[in-house]
Amino acid sequence: MAYVALYRKFRPPVFEDVKGQDHIVTTLKNQIRSDRVGHAYLFCGTRGTGKTSVAKIFARAVNCEHPVDGSPCGECDTCKAIASGSSLNVIEIDAASNNGVDNIREIVDEVSYSPTKGKYKVYIIDEVHMLSTGAFNALLKTLEEPPSYVIFILATTEPHKIPITILSRCQRYDFHRITADIIEDRLKEVTTAENVSVEEKALKYIAKAADGSMRDSLSLLDQCIAFNYGQELTYDKVLSVLGAVDTGIFGNLFSYLYNQNIAAALNLLADVVVQGRELTQFVNDFVWYLRNLMLVRTSDQMEDVVDMSSDNLLALKEQATNTDMDTILRYIRIFSELSSKMRYATQKRILIEMEFIKICKPQMEDTRDSIEDRIRILEEHTAKADKVLSGIKSGKIAVAAAPGQSVSAPVEVKKLDHAVPDDIKRIVNEWGKYMMNMPQPDRGYLKNARLSIDNDDKLLIVIDNKTLAEHYHEEQYYQNLERFFEEQMGKQVDFEVRYLESEKRFEENYIDLASINFDIITEEEVSIPTTQETATDIEEASVSADVPEDISKDTFAEDDTVQPISTDGLAEGFDAINLDIDEEEDIIPPEALALSGAMQEDAMDDENAFEEKDDDDNQNE
Ligand SMILES: [Zn+2]
Repeated sequence: MAYVALYRKFRPPVFEDVKGQDHIVTTLKNQIRSDRVGHAYLFCGTRGTGKTSVAKIFARAVNCEHPVDGSPCGECDTCKAIASGSSLNVIEIDAASNNGVDNIREIVDEVSYSPTKGKYKVYIIDEVHMLSTGAFNALLKTLEEPPSYVIFILATTEPHKIPITILSRCQRYDFHRITADIIEDRLKEVTTAENVSVEEKALKYIAKAADGSMRDSLSLLDQCIAFNYGQELTYDKVLSVLGAVDTGIFGNLFSYLYNQNIAAALNLLADVVVQGRELTQFVNDFVWYLRNLMLVRTSDQMEDVVDMSSDNLLALKEQATNTDMDTILRYIRIFSELSSKMRYATQKRILIEMEFIKICKPQMEDTRDSIEDRIRILEEHTAKADKVLSGIKSGKIAVAAAPGQSVSAPVEVKKLDHAVPDDIKRIVNEWGKYMMNMPQPDRGYLKNARLSIDNDDKLLIVIDNKTLAEHYHEEQYYQNLERFFEEQMGKQVDFEVRYLESEKRFEENYIDLASINFDIITEEEVSIPTTQETATDIEEASVSADVPEDISKDTFAEDDTVQPISTDGLAEGFDAINLDIDEEEDIIPPEALALSGAMQEDAMDDENAFEEKDDDDNQNE
């Protein structure tokens, strides 16, 4: 008997044997059981996911004389006739080779003859996206109102190429890629049925290489069995038949690239080429290796997903701990793009070599992640240089000065210092003065502001007008105020204007700086404090403020970056200062602020704007 390819021999005969497409199989079986069969179906999905198999089962099931739970019985005359291909009721057309108007007209003419035997005439049109526009138009009328005994099943790998007029007349079913586990199980069944002894690891590899296609997996298995006929099919044999490379090689390749050892990486590639490995497969497998590296880097509990032998996994983990995530992600992006570029390339090796060089010399790219990689490399160099420097300083490394060169101190760049907590205190103490010097409209906007500080020593200016608070989230207005602070105190002040919903009491959510009795220090007495002094000062201040026992931590759950501190009987000082400001001065009312309708809607929709703003800020940091 002639040899039948495994994927044809093991085509599922009934719905129950279709793997990984339960969502489709269940729907179709229910339609058959309840006798609510449609007249046009569109099966979409990548190759080898079961579109044709399901179409054939469906064609038998609708014609079967004694269907069993929606599936064809396989015993009756109709089932047998269709299975042997002698039935006239199931017509398969390959649209790739029959894509003209005439081919479709033939079908349309034939449709008018009712089936000789059985209930339905089923037309299965494979690769339907290959039909010409004229052919689609010719099909349209029949597809819309076919005789009651006709069913069309259109199958395609590229549904986006199908005209909307056709799509709208079909019930669409999307076939999923089949997971490697399901494929592996099926391969096990097949090898058992075929009496082939095979290593589990080998099947795992084939299942993964098939990339979601059951037909590909069976073809690959066929190929491997044929090559090693009568012997046990081992992992190594599968690798050599499929032109694949062992994981160990990818580990080496990664470390060469990561350490910019370009020569070693290119030599490794040369070896792979000499061994006759398939280069597209090589790149795909490397992407898979990087993916495993990424997962292991992310968490310790990834053993199951990573799917590797324990010694390989150990090596992978060690590599992952010495690597940073950004680099892994960058490599994955580069090699995934490379893999799709390679599909149509004739000079695959050169493409790979180009990418190796780009990776080892990130200055050749100007994408963001290549710049990040350059920073990583720079940081590593600086760390090394620091070691050398400290060696020089400690006298362990001797240096000879070059003739005519003198060592000069580095030029200091003039840059404003950041305000430290003591400076923030000064702002609080002198807020009245600040307010008086503040230009309009800021002075008006902030006249009722209350001041606080967050854990990062950022000055919080809290106001009860949402529109105004949002106004300061715009860069130019924020910068105006920032410049004002810089001019006033000669330092860069890190601050944020926040909105406090009126029902949320300020004291419950913020440290009220005005309530903490700082010693009023005049400008003459101030010596620039060091950061350490400042930190203890703030701590003392927090301790000296009364914290009543009855305020539980839960009350402050809204924002755990802010320390709750009681403010009983305080804050008068600050409020008093506010009174100094001339209320009658020309102040632009908040309503007059030009706001887009969208912004206003936003503000109204968004009850929790305050918290969300917080989140945004954290993300930006
Ligand atoms: Zn039957």
